[in-house]
Amino acid sequence: MADPASREPCRSPSSDDGRTQPEPRRPLARQVAIVTGASSGIGTAIATALAAAGASVVVNHRPNPRSAAEADAVVEAIRRAGDTASPFPADVTNEAEMDAMVEDAVERYGTLDIMVANAGIEKPAPIAEMTLDAWRDVIDVNLTGAFLTARAAARRFLRQGLRPDVSRAAGKIIFTSSVHEFIPWAFQANYAASKGGVMLLMKSLAQELAPRRIRVNSVAPGAIRTQINAEAWQSDEAREALLELIPYGRIGAPDDIGRAVAWLASDDADYLVGTSLVADGGMSLYPSFRGAG
Ligand code: NAD
Repeated sequence: MADPASREPCRSPSSDDGRTQPEPRRPLARQVAIVTGASSGIGTAIATALAAAGASVVVNHRPNPRSAAEADAVVEAIRRAGDTASPFPADVTNEAEMDAMVEDAVERYGTLDIMVANAGIEKPAPIAEMTLDAWRDVIDVNLTGAFLTARAAARRFLRQGLRPDVSRAAGKIIFTSSVHEFIPWAFQANYAASKGGVMLLMKSLAQELAPRRIRVNSVAPGAIRTQINAEAWQSDEAREALLELIPYGRIGAPDDIGRAVAWLASDDADYLVGTSLVADGGMSLYPSFRGAG
């Protein structure tokens, strides 16, 4: 059983008007998380949401000066909010760096409970013009990087075992996949193939690791406003065309995904194993059938 104190809303005894006020819930209290590609976009929102839910968070970023400066700003914002975070430079395609990142997190915070394999890239091209490099780069980061990230976490979780006072699971692995794990994507064959691969990587690991009480799941975002897809929402025409694909009528914000992942990592989602949690404003509901087909 998890510690009831970490699972129930706290009540402060009084407030300005004398009434009892609920305090924020901290369902990830005393847990440690790593988020890859967390110096921007969805990764930043996930790191921030996990920290707000009580976890100590490692903000992984690409080892270059620009990403390092962005990661420092993310860490500072999390600390300003009273939460705990630190940056860690590592390339998700580098086996030794992924293993070192987990070791460093354990040395720094004493444990590891949550791994979010979020780093990803796009390199679109018509298939006739898609270079082998563009294919390999996307598969390397999005699929092989996800594998190396998950493997480093799984090794730690398997050694560490269950800590029932902290969580009902012995570890949580969450991939940032995409609706393109099941929606085909013209001119992005490399990206869709990588995310389709992530789906079966996730499900296979979920099946393998569930008996050891390690929960593996994905979040599958639709269109979220970040740099990776800036061309799809920056101009009025592009935005209108994109909104046509989203029944709920708004482009997603990184926070939409951050909150979904914080929930997925918590014991509230303890029975979710091998699931892709689709967060897409209805994008995958065949929106062209909205007017009765
Ligand atoms: P983003 O470009 O802001 O974030 C991607 C992050 O990954 C960046 O911080 C980048 O530096 C990092 N990264 C890239 N290569 C790396 C490497 N080798 N090692 C470590 N970090 C690396 O874009 P985003 O939209 O926040 O993307 C985050 C994830 O969400 C990606 O996996 C993407 O495929 C997925 N996604 C995004 C959308 C969307 O609409 N924005 C939709 C579905 C899925």
